[in-house]
Amino acid sequence: MKIRLIVPAAGSGERLGAACPKALVPLAGIPLLVHTLRRFEALGLAHDAIVLHAPEARPRFAAALNGALAQQDIVLTEGGATRQASVAIGLDHADGADIVVIHDAARPFITSQAIQASIDAAAECGAATVAIPASDTILVADNAGYLDTTPDRSRLWCCQTPQTFRRDVIRDAHATAAREGYAGTDDATLVRRAGGQVKLIPGTSLNLKITTPADLTLAETIVKEHLA
Ligand code: C5P
Repeated sequence: MKIRLIVPAAGSGERLGAACPKALVPLAGIPLLVHTLRRFEALGLAHDAIVLHAPEARPRFAAALNGALAQQDIVLTEGGATRQASVAIGLDHADGADIVVIHDAARPFITSQAIQASIDAAAECGAATVAIPASDTILVADNAGYLDTTPDRSRLWCCQTPQTFRRDVIRDAHATAAREGYAGTDDATLVRRAGGQVKLIPGTSLNLKITTPADLTLAETIVKEHLA
């Protein structure tokens, strides 16, 4: 079973206020992307990863990866204007894979167990995403910024990555979304919209997505204290 890792890393880092692309922001002195790829090295998935980089940032990404990982056959490709577009480009490079693992560069603390569980589930039922049960009550606002509805929290999960798929399943789901002009913020939702089943794999809150300066401060502590 050929498994291929796709890492959308083309975000600008605007919300982080960073001077460089978010994936290259240093965390404990090492680029975020390198932390993330190292999490996949243990499973042998980093060496031929497909990394979608920010526009015109290829030399900086190549420099950041140079010598940072044991094996180096990483495909560096420019991402798209949205995460969905970046992943679609990544999928175009994943010919021959049976399973694709899609993981945000901005989540550096994913565990081997969660990655493996998502692969096993995708192999079995076609699609899986790591997610955590919502601990906060989630409010749905109306257009004027007032509370509209409050969904039953016991059924709500916060989406994370990896999201792992049989390649044909995610290719078809992206094609359906493109045909229908649907823009999502994750890939599992595209599969569900296209009528597929997606297994939820319970993750942990340590698999946070680095988005704001506060997240980065928290991440520095997680590294320093060896919490993940
Ligand atoms: O912006 P968001 O938090 O949804 O980004 C999640 C992941 O998608 C990040 O790793 C980011 O680099 C990536 N991304 C991308 N292409 C974009 C926007 C975001 O690869 N155009």
